[in-house]
Amino acid sequence: MSIEHRLSEEHESLRATVAEFARDVVAPKIGDFYEREEFPYEIVREMGRMGLFGLPFPEEYGGMGGDYFALGLALEELARVDSSVAITLEAGVSLGAMPVFRFGTEEQKRTWLPQLCAGEMLGAFGLTEPECGSDAGGTRTTARLDRESDEWVINGTKCFITNSGTDITGLVTVTAVTGRKDDGRPRISSIIVPSGTPGFTVSKKYSKVGWNASDTRELSFVECRVPAANLLGEEGRGYAQFLRTLDEGRVAISALATGLAQGCLDESLAYAQQRQAFGRPIGANQAIQFKLADMEMRAHTARLAWRDAASRLVSGEAFKKEAALAKLYTSEVAVTNAREATQIHGGYGFMNEYPVARMWRDAKILEIGEGTSEVQRMLIARELGLAG
Ligand SMILES: Cc1cc2nc3c(=O)[nH]c(=O)nc-3n(C[C@H](O)[C@H](O)[C@H](O)COP(=O)(O)OP(=O)(O)OC[C@H]3O[C@@H](n4cnc5c(N)ncnc54)[C@H](O)[C@@H]3O)c2cc1C
Repeated sequence: MSIEHRLSEEHESLRATVAEFARDVVAPKIGDFYEREEFPYEIVREMGRMGLFGLPFPEEYGGMGGDYFALGLALEELARVDSSVAITLEAGVSLGAMPVFRFGTEEQKRTWLPQLCAGEMLGAFGLTEPECGSDAGGTRTTARLDRESDEWVINGTKCFITNSGTDITGLVTVTAVTGRKDDGRPRISSIIVPSGTPGFTVSKKYSKVGWNASDTRELSFVECRVPAANLLGEEGRGYAQFLRTLDEGRVAISALATGLAQGCLDESLAYAQQRQAFGRPIGANQAIQFKLADMEMRAHTARLAWRDAASRLVSGEAFKKEAALAKLYTSEVAVTNAREATQIHGGYGFMNEYPVARMWRDAKILEIGEGTSEVQRMLIARELGLAG
């Protein structure tokens, strides 16, 4: 395996197109959406038209025929400017559409993927529950098969689910206990629940610290019935499915975190050259220069980490450890760069109108979502052969 340090012509063209879109379309508008805590439908629609939601899917399902590496490039460039739109894309692809593509029947793929790939519909993935997040195998949501009507009957609650309550959300894939193994452990399965199904209620948006222009909701299921055919893949395979989904998602989140770390540097570099103190630009001080040098070092190394994990994933090699390493490293780097960027901006860095304030608020969740830093360390230790 080798990591190419130069992008192919195709990848570079995609990166440049998304960078231009982020700079010209997202940057001027997103601050207002963020302040109003409003989902940016017009920007998401435009991302759909550009084909970003279809990047890693085959053309026969309406995708762009690219791969996870291409998705990572797009996420990095979006998050360099704003994380709410980046997480909307990340969750839409990695958590919404990818499980349908990886584990769905041909009919499920043909039903859902074209609209998901076009960004006209968003999908969500409901794993986390009020009583279990890191320990997602402890899911309490249940689904029983009513053989008479040939329907799953779902009961339970999911929390913190991204993209689950927008006007264009079409489905949520939920994990639920569908039985017990011989040793008494739960059999977990994934089931597609279309939006608007009776018994499926989406609560109002959470008030969040960051990602304020993205959609996050609590979901409840009370005797919610969906056809038996909505089972995703085999019954009892839900645990393995979500482990795979999260491994891949971590690669995408790493690219997003790298973008945030780079965006902090972009903003700080420009500010340090322009802001005057004691009669000269603050960037003339070695203390500030060293901060910027360290931010560059972290963003650069973060990029190598996500690209390494993505290259392994795309070439079909084992990538679990590298995905965990990349997720752990890039998220911690994003938080550090956001803290330093705010420091370099002084009091202005604490004002929401400055992008670095938004980046600071958006950074912390990267150490929590799709597996906390502690969970990543547990995974890496396990890969090192250390028993839990
Ligand atoms: C904005 C946002 C969007 C999200 N989107 C989604 C989504 O789309 N779909 C979805 O399913 N979930 C989503 N989540 C949920 C997210 O993945 C969980 O919050 C995360 O996995 C942590 O779970 P928890 O919050 O239950 O924390 P807990 O599991 O309760 O953990 C609390 C603390 O204990 C630590 N901890 C737990 N177990 C151990 C251990 N064995 N050793 C050491 N430390 C441990 C954790 O690392 C953490 O620091 C989202 C969350 C947020 C905030």
